[in-house]
Amino acid sequence: MATTTASRSQLSYLADQMNDLKQKGTHFKLRVLEDPQAPESTFDGKRVINLASNNYLGLTTHPKLREAALEATNKYGVGSGAVRTVSGTMKIHMELEEKIARFKNVEACVVFQSGFAANAGTVSAILGKGDFIVSDELNHASIIDGARLSRATIKVFRHKDAAHAEELLKEVANEPGHKLLISDGVFSMDGDIGPLPALCDLAEKYGAIMMVDDAHSSGVLGRNGRGTIDHFNVHGRVDVQVGTLSKAIGALGGYVCGSRDLIDFLYHRARPFLFSTSHPPSVAATCIAAFDVLEQEPQLMEKLWENTRFFKKELGGLGFNIGGKTTPVSETPITPIIIGEGRLAMEFSRELFNEGVFTPGIAFPTVAEGKARLRTIMTATHTRQQLEKALEVLNKVGKRMGIIS
Ligand SMILES: *Cc1c(COP(=O)(O)O)cnc(C)c1O
Repeated sequence: MATTTASRSQLSYLADQMNDLKQKGTHFKLRVLEDPQAPESTFDGKRVINLASNNYLGLTTHPKLREAALEATNKYGVGSGAVRTVSGTMKIHMELEEKIARFKNVEACVVFQSGFAANAGTVSAILGKGDFIVSDELNHASIIDGARLSRATIKVFRHKDAAHAEELLKEVANEPGHKLLISDGVFSMDGDIGPLPALCDLAEKYGAIMMVDDAHSSGVLGRNGRGTIDHFNVHGRVDVQVGTLSKAIGALGGYVCGSRDLIDFLYHRARPFLFSTSHPPSVAATCIAAFDVLEQEPQLMEKLWENTRFFKKELGGLGFNIGGKTTPVSETPITPIIIGEGRLAMEFSRELFNEGVFTPGIAFPTVAEGKARLRTIMTATHTRQQLEKALEVLNKVGKRMGIIS
């Protein structure tokens, strides 16, 4: 039978939009990884120094995690077979939740299929029509989507601006609805840290629920990677702590930590929990092993920060705009190179790739128009030699393209 797709034109408007992106130069092709996610990897047949992964501690290939995954697969098979609320809660899922709750020193934890599902599922479950969400303008897309799904009124404060957040909280102080104050712990595009102590003060002053998304801080900040709540020592002041298992933890998933009541409520009401199948046992086992590694191998985090300090200093020294003035300055292993124009950022990224360094170009709508950038991410497993090579290529290509002088 002949294919009929070509004759149907209902989706042609999508092709038009893709043509627009091609004209703007921000169209991309997916880079395909052919070997493990590592400091040096093969993408599209080319060996490159990889500054593009969230594999902060190198756990994607850690022997203890691999072993845990294989053992769980042999013991329990490859899938859980159902959603958590039917027959898809395995003992290993409960063990992981208990492990994370102990690690974070909270009453309870619920694991979701991803950090995205954790944020979107939680915000949309705990708030509703008539409630208010006061949210940092650079919060992650999953928070924004969760807020929209909740049908609460959304009020956005200027990035990290606690005084502005207070104005917004004041505006709704006499309204009967619940209020949620929400911030990323570490912001994924700029690598700066949310002003948690000031936000916690506000939440207490105005009786708001305090929620923090620690996706990029888990395994990176705080004692043994306990995140920004530990980093700022605001234990007991954040009602809803979100983390991911997909970045430093090296596997896949998201979680919410908080009171027993909160977690029981989410078991009953969070839609990704109710309507989407739970993790394969191998993933749960991998994550359990990862939390052991966080406790047992603190040298990984030390190496991550040593690499981060070295790379940031050198990168700034080459003359790149790594934040400041109109963009925040990174305080974490994420360091953006601000370019401005989307097309130039994408071209710079392509040229670097051709010369053996992978650092993705990021443009609108992921970041604001005019703030296109390359985003570099350090890991614990990059060698000094790899970093020096990457800097040499950045310097050469940056000069050739007139991005630095
Ligand atoms: C990556 C990220 C998420 C999503 O986590 P996944 O586990 O990849 O779905 C949520 N919030 C922030 C701030 C992130 O950077």
